[in-house]
Amino acid sequence: MLYKKGYTWGLTYKRFAVILFQLILIGGLVMGACPKNRVSKLRGRKRRTHYKARPVELTKCPQCLETKRAHRVCQSCGYYDKKVKVLEVETE
Ligand SMILES: [Zn+2]
Repeated sequence: MLYKKGYTWGLTYKRFAVILFQLILIGGLVMGACPKNRVSKLRGRKRRTHYKARPVELTKCPQCLETKRAHRVCQSCGYYDKKVKVLEVETE
């Protein structure tokens, strides 16, 4: 293998960068985050106001026109996107 001038002792610039990056990663894992300031009750609660559950999205099945959840297999006919029959539904 050919090395550029100055990198003749087995440690290429790229490998050195990789090792340095790995060391930084390990350091981050060992030490973890260290918050500089305390987050107040108000600030934390304000942030958490965006953590909320969304209502279930309902659409009509193109096969049987029954209401079903979006991007899911229809529970009444077992079809997905009018093409593939995924589920075998019992009909009485
Ligand atoms: Zn259906």
